[in-house]
Amino acid sequence: MKNLLSIVSILVVSALIFISCDNNNQTQKDWAIALHGGAGTISQDLPDSIKQQYYRGLEEALRVGELILRDGGSALDAVEMVVRNLEDNPLFNAGKGSVFTKEARHELDAAIMDGSTLGAGALTGLTTVKNPISLARKVMTDSPHIFFSGIGAEEYANQTDVERVENDHFHTQNRYEQWERAQEQSSAVEAPKTTIYDWIEDLKFGTVGAVALDSDGKLAAATSTGGMTNKQFGRVGDVPIIGSGTFANHIAAISATGWGEQIMRNVSANTIANHMEFTGSSLDRAMQFVLNERLNPGDAGFIAVDRVGNISMQMNTSGMFRASLDSDGNRTVMIWENE
Ligand code: ASP
Repeated sequence: MKNLLSIVSILVVSALIFISCDNNNQTQKDWAIALHGGAGTISQDLPDSIKQQYYRGLEEALRVGELILRDGGSALDAVEMVVRNLEDNPLFNAGKGSVFTKEARHELDAAIMDGSTLGAGALTGLTTVKNPISLARKVMTDSPHIFFSGIGAEEYANQTDVERVENDHFHTQNRYEQWERAQEQSSAVEAPKTTIYDWIEDLKFGTVGAVALDSDGKLAAATSTGGMTNKQFGRVGDVPIIGSGTFANHIAAISATGWGEQIMRNVSANTIANHMEFTGSSLDRAMQFVLNERLNPGDAGFIAVDRVGNISMQMNTSGMFRASLDSDGNRTVMIWENE
């Protein structure tokens, strides 16, 4: 009897732990949106003035998405316009504010995906397009292809009316100093490193992304980035690889941030959607599976929304700039795990 009681209490406690890790339910929301501004080692000692700038940036971008979705606009419009807003904000590593390559230039990646059609547009190695996400959308809607790279991506841009800039438009002093520090560290250390954090302890990646569900029940995802500080010639990260850093289908829309090579190896965004589809797990659980069973601590963060409007934003890094809102008025603007 005593044994039976302890088994029952263990089962009850486990069930409670299981439930408390999962906030997803089946009540259909009219619309929902989540966005991120990058995951990484973000010190809790961040000065209050800088913290407030980040919160303001996240809130402003969230408002852009809210106005579109509340008005019955599409998930695709919402994610494109939110990401554009973040690309124009020099705090984040996308568009203006992008990190420097090893050659002290900027090479930008972006992708967008329409969950209702599996349409997708992706670009890598852009050097003169002010808002890569809008060009990605044109690739999706106006070209017979999905993914353009480097010279070809610039050539494709020439055939469109997207705004062009000189490469130094993307330059910011903060990112330049970050690059200088990265250069010093990489020449000082000879042994190969296993994670980017071994090289650059205080690197705030700062990629941006957005996911949304609209009132027509359609899902979309968009991600944009300057990549990794000090990246080598032609390096392609996870962001424009459909299924790795960006993915949307009828189940969920997902945008990733973090160490691109790891995210790619695990085809992470697609794995989250597949895990839900194949095992029937919730969005929260599918994301935990990728973060805990596939990736290593410190690798990445994800934002995602499922077809009923559940939002999940989780990371295995110390922080992730993120914000979300749904039609029921549930609102989050956060950097660290507990705030
Ligand atoms: N995932 C991006 C990359 O590796 C970086 C980031 O998320 O900030 O290109």
